[in-house]
Amino acid sequence: MLNKHYDNWLDLSLDTKVVDCLKEEDRYLISLEDTVFFFESGGQKKDIGTINNHEVLDLIEKEGNFYHVLAVPLTGDVHLEVDKKHRMIQAQIHSASHLMCTLINKRFNAKTIAFFNDELEAGAEMGFETLEESTIKRIEELCNEYIRQDIPVEIMYPEHEEAIKHVSIKKADHDVLRAVKIGDIDYDMCACVHVPSLRYLQSFKIIRHEKTTRGYKIFFLVGDQLRNTYQRQYDILRGLSSKLSVPVMKVEEAFDKYNQEYQNLINKNNKLNEANISLLKDKYVSIDNKVIIEEIDFDRKQLSKLVSMIINETNKLVFMYCIENENIHLIVGASKDFGLKANEIFKDISLRFNLKGGGNIFVAQGGGKYDESIKEYILETYGKNNI
Ligand SMILES: [Zn+2]
Repeated sequence: MLNKHYDNWLDLSLDTKVVDCLKEEDRYLISLEDTVFFFESGGQKKDIGTINNHEVLDLIEKEGNFYHVLAVPLTGDVHLEVDKKHRMIQAQIHSASHLMCTLINKRFNAKTIAFFNDELEAGAEMGFETLEESTIKRIEELCNEYIRQDIPVEIMYPEHEEAIKHVSIKKADHDVLRAVKIGDIDYDMCACVHVPSLRYLQSFKIIRHEKTTRGYKIFFLVGDQLRNTYQRQYDILRGLSSKLSVPVMKVEEAFDKYNQEYQNLINKNNKLNEANISLLKDKYVSIDNKVIIEEIDFDRKQLSKLVSMIINETNKLVFMYCIENENIHLIVGASKDFGLKANEIFKDISLRFNLKGGGNIFVAQGGGKYDESIKEYILETYGKNNI
């Protein structure tokens, strides 16, 4: 939608009248005589703000009509206020996209594929086949050089003949044309909101780039979003530095040290677990019972290892289980000379108690909801093999 209010990025307030107010479920679609709200288009996000101090929940287009969506109905005279901070960031991001993309189109021969932005960062997907770090640096330097030159960003309404000197006939195929001109860097048809000149972008920083199937996504920070995101990320870094009791610039070093210590503890713990499993295996191998039914506070992997070691060393039928968050994990082990098959026993138990899992004739395992009567059932049904 072409709207003269969009020519001035800080044209944010307006007194106007309600034309129509339609109820749609629990919200109201309100069309106005005029609006300063920007409706999403051209890669620029829609405005946020209020009408008569009621929050505008959404801005939508339906069958050529533009609606302000509110939770309350409105009639008569209304006052519109667009959120200034949000508008400024969106105009900065959009204008910076013009600058960076045109630069890349003209100097680096890569076309623009898509735009994106969220609360923390913005960017564009560009049709590069390869993208060197040095090219990224060069793009960033050039953008900042233009910002320092404070080149005006002009909005014009050219005649068709004038427009087609700069853009394709297809792009100029509209009744009313609106062009944005940034010095001799860029001239394009555009209906969005722009900063008045490049100094309002303040500073431009490419933060990373990623290969895609179509080219590369280039992520940047500019203007107020750069300051906001920097502050949020720095606060996180400062929080980490405080937790690690080191200066901010030593956070990575401190993290590596803690990580190494953590790995050493894991290794030590694994060795202790191995020794523990071996001791328990000796204990169960040496007892007279032919059938062992035990709850053991091990994880599944350790439990499985223990059961396998026992049935390999002695002729026993073993039921071992652990309980995790009200779920049981049961492992059945049968020595090869015991005369019963672990998978058949597990199947019998799993069908009665709705457990999932399976295995082979020596070891079978699985789990489900813990039921106290599982142990009783195993004792009654398989405990007799102790005789
Ligand atoms: Zn634009």
